[in-house]
Amino acid sequence: MSVKLKDLATKLDSSVEELQKLLREWDFTYDEKKLTVDSDIAELLEDELGTTKSSVEKLAEQMNENLERDIIKKQRKKTAGKDTSKKTSGSDKNLKVDILEIGDAISVKELAEKTGVSAAKIIGELMKNGILANINQLLDYDTVAVMMSDFGVQIKRKSSEGSADDFLSKDIDAIIGEEDSDDLSDRPAIITVMGHVDHGKTKLLDTIRNADVVSGESGGITQHIAAYQVTRKGKKITFLDTPGHEAFTEMRSRGAKVTDIAILVVSATEGVKPTTIEAINHAKEAGVPIVVAINKMDLPEANPEKVKSELVEFGLQSEDWGGDTIMVPISALKGEGIDQLLDMILVVSEMQELKANPDRKAVATVVETHMEPGLGAVATVVVNTGTLKVGDPLIAGDAYGKVKAMWDDKGDRKESAGPATPVVIAGLSKTPQAGDIVQVMDSEKNAREQAVQVEAVRRDDALNAKNIVGDLVRQIQSGELKVLKVVLKTDTKGSFEAIKQSLEGIKHDEVMVKVIHSGVGDITESDVMMASASNALLLGFHVGVSQAIERSAEQRGVDIKIYKIIYKMIEDITRILSGLLEPEEVVVEHGTAKVKEVFFTKKSMQIVGLKVETGKLVKGTTLRVFRNDEQIGEGTIQTLKRVDKDVDEMKAGNDCGIQYTGQVLLEAGDKLECYEIEMRERSL
Ligand code: GDP
Repeated sequence: MSVKLKDLATKLDSSVEELQKLLREWDFTYDEKKLTVDSDIAELLEDELGTTKSSVEKLAEQMNENLERDIIKKQRKKTAGKDTSKKTSGSDKNLKVDILEIGDAISVKELAEKTGVSAAKIIGELMKNGILANINQLLDYDTVAVMMSDFGVQIKRKSSEGSADDFLSKDIDAIIGEEDSDDLSDRPAIITVMGHVDHGKTKLLDTIRNADVVSGESGGITQHIAAYQVTRKGKKITFLDTPGHEAFTEMRSRGAKVTDIAILVVSATEGVKPTTIEAINHAKEAGVPIVVAINKMDLPEANPEKVKSELVEFGLQSEDWGGDTIMVPISALKGEGIDQLLDMILVVSEMQELKANPDRKAVATVVETHMEPGLGAVATVVVNTGTLKVGDPLIAGDAYGKVKAMWDDKGDRKESAGPATPVVIAGLSKTPQAGDIVQVMDSEKNAREQAVQVEAVRRDDALNAKNIVGDLVRQIQSGELKVLKVVLKTDTKGSFEAIKQSLEGIKHDEVMVKVIHSGVGDITESDVMMASASNALLLGFHVGVSQAIERSAEQRGVDIKIYKIIYKMIEDITRILSGLLEPEEVVVEHGTAKVKEVFFTKKSMQIVGLKVETGKLVKGTTLRVFRNDEQIGEGTIQTLKRVDKDVDEMKAGNDCGIQYTGQVLLEAGDKLECYEIEMRERSL
């Protein structure tokens, strides 16, 4: 049944224009020619406007408030696990089903179609609960389950190939899962080149690539692909052609693990520079072994020994200096030392026993993406495990698709790619992000469904990425984290030393502070990425932070805290850590008493006369019962009376009566010890 907007406007003391504006805002459909709306929607408009008679503007304001409330509610729901704020709407006569199975999310439209509850009713119900939704809005499982029970539909979770959480898992190892060692075979190592700007990273990558290039016609992909493979002594080595630790960290912050060994390029003429240190920290934090390439050895002022001595300070000691870090002098420009470097990479990769299972559905990592004329979204991916084939349906972050075509690093068409192989794939719905994990799925339909969910969850996460400190606290409390990691930027080296010492001085059995990266100067994108990848707090002392960096930090869920006074910083960190400590159970002894007389006994309850001998007795606390100097049980002081008056405490020297319940019944002459257990927040 439909209702004329004109009639409705008169009834609601409003105007047709106002109603139309509202309908557009809500994204409701209505007959724009006849100016009629579905009776359900009319009811909704009446509900909202009829009671308040507010103007559209006022209602919009209200809706904004509701939206904010919804975000807060959602956050609460995440911690509390359930939302009890929904109201009952009564069941619907037009129901198509009693039970509906859904995945992690479903759109309003689909929910309406599947249940028979009209979309307007669903939107109305959501609105009552402060959720502003249109017909295409994706609703999460929890919201749907609570809301639909009010309509008389029971929601069950569909067991599918995996939930969006699986696809958003921060850890590629979890996605790959346990593999039978019988299925594993050796795979090439994947290498990232890092180091300070101008020390020769790009030159080195080009030299290695060019030395290996066998001439060949490009098979259709014109781009220089973002990863390549070379062969040395019959063994393959894969290089990521995205020099610098920025890309590496960016990928790591997405849960990717696509580097087995880091080559740290250090110029033999310039030595260790700030970015060299940053790169070392990034590799160490990721647990990736470092091979040092001391570059520009062709220059007369080259001083490799100086480089080696400088690196010692950062925990890298060359083998000829008694350490275990491999350092190879090279000239990327002249191509000298490159073979030795590759040999050393083979040695290190052999020690790592790198293996993968080529006979399974592929899991890969996106290294680079772009739009390619005529091909649409293409991505350079490196296969982590399994074999990726043309025709495979896949999901990559919130992109999905089917591998339409595949090229290797020389631009040749390929039908399949095994572990550690870099390839360019075409056939994606959109460009994913570097570091997104690619998973081959059963069907393209399934891939699409999951991608939609991933997109929804990412959107939701972006909305909720606020209380980072709270999240760190939760992680440490649940035992996931025992170390509070910190990235520290200071104005001078002197203040850095002082702060680092103070921070690392805050020690405790269960929680400690670790400065995983530090430097002098303003907070940079690289600092934010490091903090994001490592789940660390980003602390600044007398340094600046631009708005762009602040925005980026917010997007990545990184908390930046800037201080001007050292003790304030220490105080704050101590406070965070105290919150991290689980409260302690402390036994508080109150006093002792002696039973003089038992007046009344019924089952385990007694009324007893006592004399308080030491300290005090406190209502609601526990009594240890001793008979002939032996503890025989425990009980509770339910009420405490002095003559006829209820009291909370009774001091030594006084007689009193208590109502007692306990495991043992009291007798005259029993000795009692009164105590209670307090949960005390521990401080450092
Ligand atoms: P990146 O910023 O680390 O990628 O450094 P590049 O690879 O762009 O190199 C910076 C500069 O150093 C370029 O002018 C290179 O030609 C030069 N360069 C790189 N490697 C060598 C080398 O082994 N010897 C000499 N003399 N120059 C080099």
